[in-house]
Amino acid sequence: MENNGKLISVTDLSSYSFCRRGLYLRLVLGLKEPVKPVMVLGGIRHRVYDEANKKEEFLVSQIGSDVKREEVLQMFANAYNAVLNKSVYSYSPQIEALKMDKNEVAEQLKQIVLVQSRSRADEVLSFSSKTGLFGKELWSKLTPKVITELGVRSQKLRLKGVVDRVEVYGDEYVPVEIKTGRAPHEGVWPDHRMQLAAYMLLLNDSLNVNIKEGVVKYVAANQTRQVVMNPFMEYEVTSAVDNVFSLMEQRQVPGFCGKGYCSICALGEDYGKRLIKLPARS
Ligand SMILES: [Zn+2]
Repeated sequence: MENNGKLISVTDLSSYSFCRRGLYLRLVLGLKEPVKPVMVLGGIRHRVYDEANKKEEFLVSQIGSDVKREEVLQMFANAYNAVLNKSVYSYSPQIEALKMDKNEVAEQLKQIVLVQSRSRADEVLSFSSKTGLFGKELWSKLTPKVITELGVRSQKLRLKGVVDRVEVYGDEYVPVEIKTGRAPHEGVWPDHRMQLAAYMLLLNDSLNVNIKEGVVKYVAANQTRQVVMNPFMEYEVTSAVDNVFSLMEQRQVPGFCGKGYCSICALGEDYGKRLIKLPARS
């Protein structure tokens, strides 16, 4: 099997389990769907978490011993909200191209962003009350600290990806996926599990840090679910990567996935006209 050190991305693994045909069209024929509103919303949401995280040192340093809980929650909420408006604005070209309304976009994301700001403010406050620290000292000792949009790659795993969010507890790293869809009754959805497994292995391999678990936060249900690292994960992820590489060697476009809500398969054999040609992949 010849792949010249080529790496696939973690999102390709989920795309494979969702629809092999769609993944094939994208990876092999370089065809993808035009941008859809849901992608713009997702992009803005990620931008908000990333930008809000950059404001955190400033926010945490403002927490003095005389500041009340409600004030801290409000301060975080205001900061996240400002970041939301700025992020929506930065997506103006995409929003206008899709004839979406900027105010509606901001409104749609407001609740999720507020939940996230509250949960982070609570985390900081609980660390402060546990340790009795405030201001700059609170910031310097704060656990967990958060790294957003962390790029990771590994030749050994033939994988690359960007982890949305990593919580750092001393020398232990916990990848976190924030999901807006509904939560399963228990545990996490299989594709979320695969995604986290891949990120855990990638972090382990590329940064050589301690990984014991990953977490999925289902924000709409306000549920946090753990995925514990185990020895079978490497096999699971490696097989998934193998599947994607074999798919790419296939000569024929795979058949339809049969999912009624698959927008790629819904195009039928007309895909060439309806999809956009991507620039060649590097
Ligand atoms: Zn499909």
